[in-house]
Amino acid sequence: MDDVDVAVIGAGFSGLVAARTLQRSGLSVRVLEAADRVGGRAMTESSAAGTPVDLGGQWIGHHHVRMQALAQEFGMTLFPSHTRGKMLIRDGQQNLSRLSPATLSALMSLIWLAIMARTGLGVRDDRTLADWLAGISPSRARRLIDIVTATLTATDPERISVQAVADALNASGGLLEMLSFKGGAQESLLSGGAGGLAAAIAETLGPAVSLNQSVTALLRDAQGVTVHTPHGAIRARHVIVATAPPVAERIRHEPPLPAGRAQLQRDTFMGTIYKAVIVYDTPFWRTDGLSGELLALDSLVATAADISPPGGPGHLCTLVPGQAARTLSNLDTTTRRETVLHTLATHFGERARAPVSFHEKSWHEDRFVLGGYTAWSKPGTSAALADVGTEATGRVHWAGTESATQFRGYFEGAVRAGERAAAEVLAAG
Ligand SMILES: Cc1cc2nc3c(=O)[nH]c(=O)nc-3n(C[C@H](O)[C@H](O)[C@H](O)COP(=O)(O)OP(=O)(O)OC[C@H]3O[C@@H](n4cnc5c(N)ncnc54)[C@H](O)[C@@H]3O)c2cc1C
Repeated sequence: MDDVDVAVIGAGFSGLVAARTLQRSGLSVRVLEAADRVGGRAMTESSAAGTPVDLGGQWIGHHHVRMQALAQEFGMTLFPSHTRGKMLIRDGQQNLSRLSPATLSALMSLIWLAIMARTGLGVRDDRTLADWLAGISPSRARRLIDIVTATLTATDPERISVQAVADALNASGGLLEMLSFKGGAQESLLSGGAGGLAAAIAETLGPAVSLNQSVTALLRDAQGVTVHTPHGAIRARHVIVATAPPVAERIRHEPPLPAGRAQLQRDTFMGTIYKAVIVYDTPFWRTDGLSGELLALDSLVATAADISPPGGPGHLCTLVPGQAARTLSNLDTTTRRETVLHTLATHFGERARAPVSFHEKSWHEDRFVLGGYTAWSKPGTSAALADVGTEATGRVHWAGTESATQFRGYFEGAVRAGERAAAEVLAAG
């Protein structure tokens, strides 16, 4: 049986950063990754134009300083998200101005949500986001807020409480920051793609990273932990589990996990998200004065954003959350692609029907990650679960973006959680 100081489960950003910190401190490390690639919820492929395309996380926020530092260390540049031009808010073929009654009413509701999160007013764990949405009128404003909150949370409003949403807003700098490009969470993008950065970190770890190693069981004793995979077992003084809690639920523990941690894993679920990146020879919408940002009220594919690299081809991305994502995923590949392109053509013009390449991923169908952007507590369980996220279970430590106290759900949270778990192991000796 191999013997290492620390076994890290999961080669997403959290696990990779934890492993690298420990390896640099002179400890022997083994990263066990279930998939045949590193990166987890970061995944980059190449477009027909040769540009990197992020199918998972992509934006780096203004305050995501650990992630920015990591990118800089690996010589990857950040470029600002393109925001110049007109954002489209459309109901069918009709443009809604920023000053329309529906848009203004939606804005007021968003401000109210931000105030609720800040003050706790009206924030309850037995009140779902859907309950809150039901009180918004007119119906156009409700649909607008539904799109915005669904795209922000990547889940169905019936499945999360107002409390869970408020907690998420408060952990990530507030609603304005989460919705903003400049100064906010969508400020910039990575030149080589987020998956490119994950691969670069993994490279520094060399043979310490093992792919296709799904950890099935952790057996704890006073001296260490025996880590089981279908290919055998290794022995480690400490283990860092760097996956989302509902994903970690598939690992068997002996002795069983303490009640709080077991409940955290059982009472959380992964969001549902489909993402497509559509690549064109140029960002043609810009010549029509459009920013590429879209909110389409009557469409399954309700949002778009310009994520084109500077001076390169045009990249549009769409994020489709919740039930709409499941509906899209159930279509055959050709119909799904046509559905996405039809929406883009309706709002950006016929040129949108002819991309040079089309890239997509239904994250809720990824068997190792189970969904995205992040895990959510089921309504009624948020308060009880708030404090158990990071407490180590003997020699088993918990990382992953869901265990971060700040920027939970973002890359930044993943990096901070990885650093925190590594520090915990180093302190434990
Ligand atoms: C579509 C989408 C868009 C997003 N957009 C953004 C964005 O723009 N900006 C941003 O900051 N964040 C974004 N996110 C969120 C961001 O991607 C995540 O917060 C971050 O990647 C999580 O990293 P992690 O290391 O905590 O977990 P993960 O990346 O999920 O890594 C966990 C790893 O563990 C592995 N694993 C699971 N079970 C086992 C097992 N039993 N044994 C071994 N290995 C196992 C998995 O395969 C995975 O590789 C987005 C996510 C998605 C899906």
